[in-house]
Parts: sequence; structure tokens; C-alpha cells
Amino acid sequence: MNTSLLWFGNNLRVSDNEALHFASKADRLIAVYFFDPRHYKIGPFGFKKTERFRAKFLLETVQQLQKRLKTLNISLLVYPEQPENRIPELVERFQIDTIYLQKEWTSEEATVLANVKRKVPENIQFHETFDQFLFHPEDIPFDAYEKIPQVFTVFRKKCEKHCEVRPCFDAPQPFPIDNLVEETPKIPTLEELGFSHFEMDQRSAFPFKGGEDEALERLQHYFWDTKKLAFYKKTRNGLVGTDYSSKFSPWLANGSISAGTIYWEVNRFEKEIKKNQDTYWLIFELIWRDYFKYVSLKHGNQIFKIDGILGNDYDWHNNKAAQHDWINGQTDDDFVNANMIELKETGWMSNRGRQNVASYWSKHLQQDWRIGASYFEAMLIDYDVHSNWGNWMYNSGVGNNPRNRTFNTKRQAEMYDPNGKFQRLWLQHSLF
Ligand code: FAD
Repeated sequence: MNTSLLWFGNNLRVSDNEALHFASKADRLIAVYFFDPRHYKIGPFGFKKTERFRAKFLLETVQQLQKRLKTLNISLLVYPEQPENRIPELVERFQIDTIYLQKEWTSEEATVLANVKRKVPENIQFHETFDQFLFHPEDIPFDAYEKIPQVFTVFRKKCEKHCEVRPCFDAPQPFPIDNLVEETPKIPTLEELGFSHFEMDQRSAFPFKGGEDEALERLQHYFWDTKKLAFYKKTRNGLVGTDYSSKFSPWLANGSISAGTIYWEVNRFEKEIKKNQDTYWLIFELIWRDYFKYVSLKHGNQIFKIDGILGNDYDWHNNKAAQHDWINGQTDDDFVNANMIELKETGWMSNRGRQNVASYWSKHLQQDWRIGASYFEAMLIDYDVHSNWGNWMYNSGVGNNPRNRTFNTKRQAEMYDPNGKFQRLWLQHSLF
């Protein structure tokens, strides 16, 4: 009899999950998720690596995953511990021979895996799957990651021409009931992760819960119930409300939904309802998401360095008063302030807002862009290492932006918030 361990990371779903698909071929399967204490510590720029918004969303996600796996008679063990301190014990206790996990390459994740490998017997097999991409790394038309183009458009056009999105994996058949382990795995509370209970701000543009069911409900709403997908390109630069854009990013970031599931559903929508520029544009944006993953595969830890991937040597500052004002929405720019207050109160900010506040921080104030990126890392519900650091580099003049422009935030406010509705929502002071 062979026993596998499925070590969940940012692939917290049952459908279209390659690791689960292959792990389910074992006679016996145990699953595990770690709330790694290192993810809740203060990082090098003074912010917690995970703040309360993402912590709550993640707890909801794991609770739901545990329920979904239970219907397949798979137990999800959950530990508020470092994986390297617990996996060796699990390997021994359950006589595990193979460990399945999503492949990660950023340095912190790679170090954890190396630690685990060092602590388990040498004959344990590790199977790592790329479950986070739209275009699978084995299918892209470049010989090596070093050959990934420095310009997005070149990357996109080549992939669109030469690469097919793979079909989705079905959820596996349920295991026999005796696959379940006896202990009832307890998921930590928000308080145990170091946060106080809170209610989401009523004004939030992202009032949703974590979990695979919610991700699929959101897709059903955005595509099929309201047909908003057919207008996506026209509304995607919006600032207020739940439906100006898909809001898929938090579920995509922790893997409660796959990019492939969204892709194939857009395809179905195009066949059954409507195919236009707007439906294509959602795929276009998913390719951006892939691109930043390939950029980090190509450049490794360079994406966290002050000179970025261009090696541009700017004169960066680290002014504490400027940091305080930016974070708390007290700069001289009301559009920036409204966006920053939205982030602080809800863990969400629109794409238009993110570009403006990032440009204001790193280009206008010339503050160390990594401070901004680290603050986003803490606060965002949808934090994704590649999208966050890649976009920050892009907006700070050290990444893949061929134009390297500075946003005119006043002009942006006039264009995207002409009546001041968004600024009124978050600022509530006499100006509006
Ligand atoms: P939609 O407009 O509906 O787009 C659909 C999907 O396409 C998104 O869910 C996302 O997965 C992808 N996408 C869209 N725009 C981008 C983009 N510019 N880069 C990469 N993927 C994109 N996105 C994250 O998921 N996590 C982050 O940590 C993150 N940090 C960012 C930091 C900065 C400074 C900037 C400018 C952008 C950042 N983004 C990040 C990208 C983008 O702002 C969000 O993906 C988007 O706003 C999420 O809203 P949505 O799901 O409604 O997007």
C-alpha cells in the first residue's frame, strides 16, 4: 500500500488541481496545510507580512477546503507551525512515500522546501506541480526562462500564437471512508493568528468571503447572472462598487480558483453568449498575471532588490513622515489619500488606484519603492508575490515598463473620478 501526502500551499482548491489529481492515485492520501508563523511576523520594512484582511480570507478558504476534501474522504490536517517541524513526523506516522505540492520558486518558499527535504528520509519522493499558471511552463514557446521577453506584448503575442491552455483536471473520485484519519484537525482562529475580530467596512468593494465555493459563485455572478463580462474592458478602470472588475484576484492568489477554470469559462461564454473585446480582455489580464510569474522565474530574487530587474540606480529616500502620510491618506493629494484609506480600511484597492499610489510614492515622492511593496504585501487581500513585486517594479521605473511614465494623479482623478464620488466615499471631508 502506498501513502501520499498532499501539502497544500497557494493551490487551495479541489477542482482543476493537478497535485490533487495525481496524489489521488495513491492507495491512501493525507492532506496538510500550515499557517506558518513566519507569515505573520514583522518583515524587514516594519510591516507584518500578513495583515488581518488576508488572514481572515485565508481562514475562510482553508475551512472550506477542509469541508470539500471531507466529501472526498480526505482529511486536511492543519497546523499553526513551520512545515519543516511537522512534516518529518507525519511522514513517519503515516508511512508516507510521496509528497505532492505546488511548485514555488521565490526564495522563502524554496528555503522551506529545502529544509523539509533535509529532514525526511532520502527515499521520499517529491512531486511539484505548476498549478498557478494559465500557460503551463512546459508549453510556452521559449527555450529557457532566460529567454522570456522583457516586454509584455512580445511575450503575450508569442504565447497566444504558439501555446494552448491545458484542459482542467476533474476533481477526483472519493476515497473509501477508511482513508480519513481519526483526529479532528482544528483550524486556528483569527485571534490565535494574532488578530482581533473585525467586521468588514460596509463601503468595501470586496465584501466577499474566502473559499472555492465563493470563487465559483463570483464567476457565476460576473459571467452568467449579470453578463458583466461582456462589458469588462469598458468598466475595468472603475473605483467604486463590486462589479467594475471581476474581483477574482484574492481567490486566484491563494489558488481557490485556477486561471484555467476562468479561461475555459470565458471560452464557453464566448460560444454561448457573446464574444467581443471585453471578453478577450479578461484573458489579456490573466496573461499579465502569468507574465509576472515568468518575470520572477527569470530574474529570481532580483525582483526584491532596490535596483529591480533593470539595475537602475535611482536616488531613493526613506522619509518616515512621508511614509506615515502616505499610509494614512494624509498627503497633499486627495485621490491618493482616498485610495490609501480604502486599502487601510478594507485590504482592497482597484488597479487604477494601485498604479496611482505606487507612482506617487516611488516617482513623485521618490521613496524606496520596496517600502510601498511591503506595505501592500501586508494589507492586500489578494497579495501575490509575483504580481505585487512585478507591478511595483513596473510602476517604479525598475521593471518591465518600456515607457516608464509618472502618473499625473490630478489628471487621473479628473478622468476616473470626475464627480468625486470615489473620493467622497473615503475622505468624507468638506472639500467634497
Ligand atoms: P480584473 O481587472 O478583473 O482582472 C482579472 C485578473 O487578471 C485579476 O484577478 C488578476 O489576476 C489579473 N490581473 C489584472 N491586472 C493585473 C496586473 N496588472 N498584474 C497582474 N495580474 C493582473 N494583483 C494581484 O493579484 N496581487 C497583487 O499583490 C497585486 N499587487 C499589485 C500592486 C500594484 C502596485 C499594482 C499596480 C497592481 C497590482 N496587482 C496585483 C494587479 C491588479 O491591480 C490586480 O490584479 C487587480 O486590481 C485585481 O482586481 P480584479 O481581480 O477585479 O482584476
